[in-house]
Amino acid sequence: MRTKELSGAGLSPGVAIGTAYRVELQTGAFYRIRISPEECSSELRRLRTALKQSRRQLQQAKRKFEAEVGKEHSYIIDAHLLILEDRHLVEQIEKKIKKELQSPERAVREAAENWLSAYRSLDDPFFQERGSDLEEVVERIISNLMELNSQTHAGLPEDLILVAPEVSLFLLAEYPLERLKGLVLRKGGSTSHGIIVARSYRIPVVSGVPNVEAAIRTGDTLIVDGSSGVVLVGPSHSEIRTYEARMREEKKRQLSLVGDQSPCVTLDGRRVFLYGNAETASEVLVGLGLGAEGIGLFRSEYIYMQDKKAPVGEEEQFKVYKSLAQQVGDRPAIVRTLDFGDERHPYFSSILAETEAVLGLRGIRLSLQYPEIFKNQVRALLRASAHGNLKIVIPMVSSVDEIIQGKQLIQEAQQELLQEGVVIDRGIEIGIMVEVPAAIVMLEAIAAHADFFAVGTNDLIQYTLAASRTDHRIAYLFNPLHPAVLKSLDRVARVAAHQNSMVLVCGEVASHPVYASLLVGMGFQHLSMNPFAIPEIKQILREIAYFEVRDTVNHILSLPTLEEVEGVVNERFSGLKRLTAEQLTS
Ligand code: PEP
Ligand code: MG
Repeated sequence: MRTKELSGAGLSPGVAIGTAYRVELQTGAFYRIRISPEECSSELRRLRTALKQSRRQLQQAKRKFEAEVGKEHSYIIDAHLLILEDRHLVEQIEKKIKKELQSPERAVREAAENWLSAYRSLDDPFFQERGSDLEEVVERIISNLMELNSQTHAGLPEDLILVAPEVSLFLLAEYPLERLKGLVLRKGGSTSHGIIVARSYRIPVVSGVPNVEAAIRTGDTLIVDGSSGVVLVGPSHSEIRTYEARMREEKKRQLSLVGDQSPCVTLDGRRVFLYGNAETASEVLVGLGLGAEGIGLFRSEYIYMQDKKAPVGEEEQFKVYKSLAQQVGDRPAIVRTLDFGDERHPYFSSILAETEAVLGLRGIRLSLQYPEIFKNQVRALLRASAHGNLKIVIPMVSSVDEIIQGKQLIQEAQQELLQEGVVIDRGIEIGIMVEVPAAIVMLEAIAAHADFFAVGTNDLIQYTLAASRTDHRIAYLFNPLHPAVLKSLDRVARVAAHQNSMVLVCGEVASHPVYASLLVGMGFQHLSMNPFAIPEIKQILREIAYFEVRDTVNHILSLPTLEEVEGVVNERFSGLKRLTAEQLTS
């Protein structure tokens, strides 16, 4: 058989050789419609377990509800319990499994659909309400069924290459990262969270492969070249040998990078501090080993992936933050409070209404509407602050009011803990992410309430240019060199200098040699990046003179078009990689 070659955009460099495993996205859909007669009794058992589980969950919710809100209101849950206990409904579902050999998921949906259409035909608010109760119960049973069906990792290959429509943080958390060697995706932009994490785990990614589901089957041998954006399906022995040689070279190069802990200073003596971005303890370790002077952005979303059904508790979070504080020691670690975007976490998706999340209930907005989730996290962080140099950063701030309200909740948590006699760092610094254009317009006023700024260029570019960071089709618009983006960044650098505020850049641009140089020329002295980028960025910044790059920056800031800016930048940095928007991360 001849090798099939597919191409897309390489979004995380390196080569992987492994076995394909096709993933279907679980967006409430299920994929098995029919079962075989032999499966009938085991599938009936699965149904009964799911029904029992649903009943247990509702009874638990009822007890909690009664304790917190009062007995008289628990009739809402009673209505759900009654539906679950309806013999007639359960019989109909079982019949569909036994007689029509439908999967339980399908049988539940079909049986409910008959009832729902009857309710809908009655134009009476009472029955409309029964209908929505029934829909909620059905979703609960199906989600429990799907969980009982969830694959174990036992059958997964050791050299796993996931082939999926797209990747979310949640999807990554479902698979053992140590087995995950590569990703092949139909869509996904270079700064989506799943891809950022893949990059910091050195997992090669090729995205934007059309018809990927038709071209690759589970079990196919694949070579994924995340540097050039090529995927080989069913490669020959000699192709495998060629790529294995490349992998060995790359490994050698990576090993040679480890260990340089000396400071980063430009040719003309300007000190630049380089930090690592991280989501997990192992990334922190890698970052510190590669010379990070601390953790400039600890994204806390990954911690929430441990539990699909509820926000992770204070205690579990405390453990993670405490070990982070201990890992960094005297060096700073900036932890960002929860900022779900495209993670597809089942619990939060129901709150976020997924598609709107990017312009909806993200970051501080979610925290202010669900203060108990926020306070839980802040309490864990404050408790851990006694063990090291932690700072807090609040994401997605678009007004002064949001900071005031957020800080008030933090102060309440501080008071509670002090009253409980818990030791905390009373002076913990609280900064804000500068990533919404409104925050840049209001920066002087915001500075009065923030101990430091962290510039999130991934979102800043997305919101400034109205170009989604996760849509590869418009990757050409997502360009850090757009004059509006440059002017915004320049304004942040100037205001921060004028107000004497510490400012750090932690978006993906900081990992790129050319952009990192320009940021330094703009005046930024703190850059936080994918840990693996640190040695290369350090080396490059040591070879530039701040004063010279500052002149280049001043020049490009006067240019009105992207084309002119790119022309100057490509000429000035011709020794480095040529720039296009898609190369942002290559
Ligand atoms: C950013 O927006 O640039 C950022 C650092 O945060 P995230 O990518 O997690 O949104
Ligand atoms: Mg952001």
